[in-house]
Amino acid sequence: MMRILTWNVNVLRTVLDYHPFSSLPNKNVEGLLEELKADIICFQEHKTRRQQLDRSMACPGPFDAFWTFPRSKLGYSGVCTYVDSRVCVPLRAEEGITGLLLSEPGGTMKPPWTAEEKIGCYPDMDDVQLDDEFDGTPFDPRSLDVEGRAVVLDFGLFVLFNLYCPNETNEQRRPYKMNFLRTLQARVDALVAAGREVIIAGDINVMRAPLDSGEGGVKTTAEQHYEHPARVWLDSWCAPKGPMVDVVRESWPNREGMFTCWNQKIDARPANYGSRIDLILCTPGLRPWINGGDIQNKVYGSDHCPVYIDLHDSIDRDGQTIFIRDLLNPVNRPPSTGTVFPWDEPRSAPQPPRFATKFMEEFSAKQRTLKSLWANTKPKVKPVQTKTQETKAESDPDREEIPLEPSTTMGIARAAFVALDASPSVARPAFIDESPSAQASTSATATQTTQATQEAASGTSSARPTPVKRTEPSTVDLTQDSPPAKKMSLGRTRSTPVPKGKQKKASTNGQAKLAAFWSVPKAKPKAKEPSPPRFPQTSLPSTPKQASQVGSLLGEMDEPPDTVQDELFAQALAEEDAEVEAERAREREARNQAAGSQWASMFAPKKAPLCTVHQHPCKDFIVKVQGPNKGKRFWLCSKPVGPGYDMGRSKRPREDVDPRYRCNFFLWDSANSQREVPRRLGGGSSISAGGTNDPGV
Ligand SMILES: [Zn+2]
Repeated sequence: MMRILTWNVNVLRTVLDYHPFSSLPNKNVEGLLEELKADIICFQEHKTRRQQLDRSMACPGPFDAFWTFPRSKLGYSGVCTYVDSRVCVPLRAEEGITGLLLSEPGGTMKPPWTAEEKIGCYPDMDDVQLDDEFDGTPFDPRSLDVEGRAVVLDFGLFVLFNLYCPNETNEQRRPYKMNFLRTLQARVDALVAAGREVIIAGDINVMRAPLDSGEGGVKTTAEQHYEHPARVWLDSWCAPKGPMVDVVRESWPNREGMFTCWNQKIDARPANYGSRIDLILCTPGLRPWINGGDIQNKVYGSDHCPVYIDLHDSIDRDGQTIFIRDLLNPVNRPPSTGTVFPWDEPRSAPQPPRFATKFMEEFSAKQRTLKSLWANTKPKVKPVQTKTQETKAESDPDREEIPLEPSTTMGIARAAFVALDASPSVARPAFIDESPSAQASTSATATQTTQATQEAASGTSSARPTPVKRTEPSTVDLTQDSPPAKKMSLGRTRSTPVPKGKQKKASTNGQAKLAAFWSVPKAKPKAKEPSPPRFPQTSLPSTPKQASQVGSLLGEMDEPPDTVQDELFAQALAEEDAEVEAERAREREARNQAAGSQWASMFAPKKAPLCTVHQHPCKDFIVKVQGPNKGKRFWLCSKPVGPGYDMGRSKRPREDVDPRYRCNFFLWDSANSQREVPRRLGGGSSISAGGTNDPGV
């Protein structure tokens, strides 16, 4: 059986912090790939900048890797596909769905692309119905391929798309989303017209049917399901209405709750209040090969779970047995245009296409340098393999003089890499504190830079730890002031190596003290306990989703399940992110310094109010979005969200409300009354608390 797996990992690096991957003897991407036990693995939202790519990600053992990165918005989006070369090696590999940007610099692989290297069958964009931009300006189809959303591999038997389809974070993005989907369909049509079969795997960001929505059982929601054009589009593209085989749904036609994505901000996974937006679709010609598919909803590490399909090893056709391995490894394959180095791991498999990350200059230039050294000195020890990038600048004074491919000698990527090498101590910290929130946070960056500068000044930068160091618990003292609730919540899925929020807290420790010094007058008696009341989903310091929370403040992230009905809630009201956490730490510290510990005991933890419907103690939240209420605390019903939970009368008809789930109780925290703004934003509805607009799809 051959397995193709797709998983929106929501920051690839952080997956390794989750069980069972965190306890792998081989705790790196290669170990992760082996553990997933698939032959072809498609990851979305790797959220990794090209400079962050290390050998364990780019050249993981027997796997060939194919990465795409956004051309702007670094560290956002991005998909990568891994192929076990012991099973097959793609014949061709490229990025994007239109082919329009292949001839331009800025991609993973430098142009020019030969005709042999291109997969081809690009749609004629004049024939694709493209919506104008939201502001009425014409849509530029080239924009579809600038966000690193597609890696396409040609295996002969089929062409495999690994896709991170756009989400509709706001109505301005709808044209982009719809144009991406229509262009994808046009590309697939073109391939099929040329006699090709296609497999689409990825985060499609569309719920096909009401059954694919946690809200599907709610009458009104189901009735309104197909009011979104993307859902109509997807359902009409899939059998029986259209040609594409929705393999996992066809394997489990009536299964309810078969979700692949849960809104982490509202802790929707425990009650399985999710959506099925991660799909694997095949063209009908592949039906004989399909054995079936399923979701892996017990696998944690992201707000999505893996989804896979299995293909038969062989089928009988016209009385003959055809083996899939023969079809995936044709004898007349195009030769790889990538350069092979004599010290590469020996492999019997053919070399992958030039697009493979192993041929990126970051990984090949180094070797070329050594090759030239070798030519003169013939070192007996085989070098390189375990070295990390950060040592390059020191050990390779000559690397810039080594000629690369004539056409690519000083391309943008190489220039960037040289620049990186020129200031390794500043550029490296991204490897060390890989907390996504830290990457997105300017304050964290400032801290990192400061640290790096200090280390550089003290001469330690050359001994900078490798990325592996990140996961080593060097933080015994760092856990001391983390609230117990944090550990409880982490315990559900994580094996808690070093929660990155704590790392960050540690790294900002010096700042925290300084800030506390300045913020003494701000310390309010309301915050008294060393461990303020917390609740699981909001206290996770380093859940992958927090990357997007921080990111959304920067206005550049897709939100998770694009159709979860309370997207508004998720956007408007915030959980505590590392920033808030750090602020609280500073406040606590200020109090302790100013008042002494006996003062702290005078303030008992605030008692949570009871919600009106359930009479249960509420949970507290803090508004994170910009606006007059930012930083304010409020209380919501503590029941989990679920189908039919009370979203407010404007969002949910009374007859659809299911009292087993969260009620509509809302209360500003009275301790914040001094900062409270007029009640109009409270309104008794959690939805309006943040004062933002309507959610996306
Ligand atoms: Zn309640």
